[in-house]
Amino acid sequence: MRILITGAAGFLGSHLTDALLAEGHSVVGIDNLCTGSLENLSHLTKEPRFEFREHDICQPFDFGRVDYVFNFASPASPQDYLRLGVETLDAGSTGTRNALEYAQKYQARFLHASTSECYGDPAVHPQTEDYWGNVNPVGPRSVYDEAKRFSEALVMAYHRYRKADTRIVRIFNTYGPRLKPSDGRVISNFLIQALRGEDITVYGDGSQSRSFCYVSDEIEGILRLSQSEVHSPINIGNPKEWTILDCAKAVLRITGSTSRIIHRPLPEDDPAQRKPDISRAKELLGWEPRIDLETGLKLCLEYFRKSLALPAVTDSVTLS
Ligand code: NAD
Ligand code: UDP
Repeated sequence: MRILITGAAGFLGSHLTDALLAEGHSVVGIDNLCTGSLENLSHLTKEPRFEFREHDICQPFDFGRVDYVFNFASPASPQDYLRLGVETLDAGSTGTRNALEYAQKYQARFLHASTSECYGDPAVHPQTEDYWGNVNPVGPRSVYDEAKRFSEALVMAYHRYRKADTRIVRIFNTYGPRLKPSDGRVISNFLIQALRGEDITVYGDGSQSRSFCYVSDEIEGILRLSQSEVHSPINIGNPKEWTILDCAKAVLRITGSTSRIIHRPLPEDDPAQRKPDISRAKELLGWEPRIDLETGLKLCLEYFRKSLALPAVTDSVTLS
């Protein structure tokens, strides 16, 4: 197949590019580089089955006939989408619509990268796909949450009214090599702080939870969904739930670091808990993750060691 990936220079988009090339497909990667980096694709410069186009998906595009479109373009870390608020809303609305129109033109299949943020600060735990969520529509995170919820509505509307062949993956916190060291996400922040011997910055008391999926597991789940006929949203994430404080302690164990854990203010509207119910992914896709957090952290160490030469991480997010 000839496949187009939006957001190909990002963390997940670049891993997806590698996985699809490894399956023998040709890939057109498009990205406006607002949060991603060509460094993530630098190993593909001599790959004849890969082409890169610098482009903002908020402008209509046509890069020729394709069989599949994977729509991954959007700022994704809280630090990025709080800096790029309007751009994030644009990517999730106009950008997703342009990607859907492009897929429609060539009758291509379509997979959209959605997020556990659609559940907001969830009142149902663990989160099943039929839970509608608890989102503050005007809070600081709304630029991301509502963009992603609008995208889901748009994808379902193209499916229902225009017979588009679509899929939606709700991705839970995913980590691994190529996470941008400076984008403020928790695993990258903690690993870099630990490797540098700097204080580990736990926001709030650290009792809030997340469920962390290693990137190869996440990509495997996404590929299985892409090959399925499942059109309603599917959670793909690791159901093992960690408090952020326990996650910090795991990072200290794995790195052998003597860094101190310190506490910083909890960002506004920071969700208290997150854990995917993956029954549907197990049943419909035969998928479940294999790599636990400790193993995944070890797999990331070399990448983050190499990135130590880069500028210090941002250790706090100003949300209002
Ligand atoms: P990332 O920031 O590394 O990658 C996003 C990519 O999209 C970047 O390369 C960026 O430059 C590009 N982009 C943004 N706006 C664009 C635009 N208008 N036009 C073209 N390119 C644009 O983030 P990521 O973690 O790889 O996330 C990829 C996708 O997965 C996002 O849609 C995100 O919402 C979703 N997601 C990720 C996670 C996670 O834990 N990593 C969790 C839930 C959802
Ligand atoms: N967090 C933290 N210290 C950091 C970065 C993040 O305690 O240096 C917390 C953050 O407040 C949140 C969790 O870790 O509760 C996950 O944050 P991240 O930005 O990775 O993703 P989110 O799930 O909030 O989108």
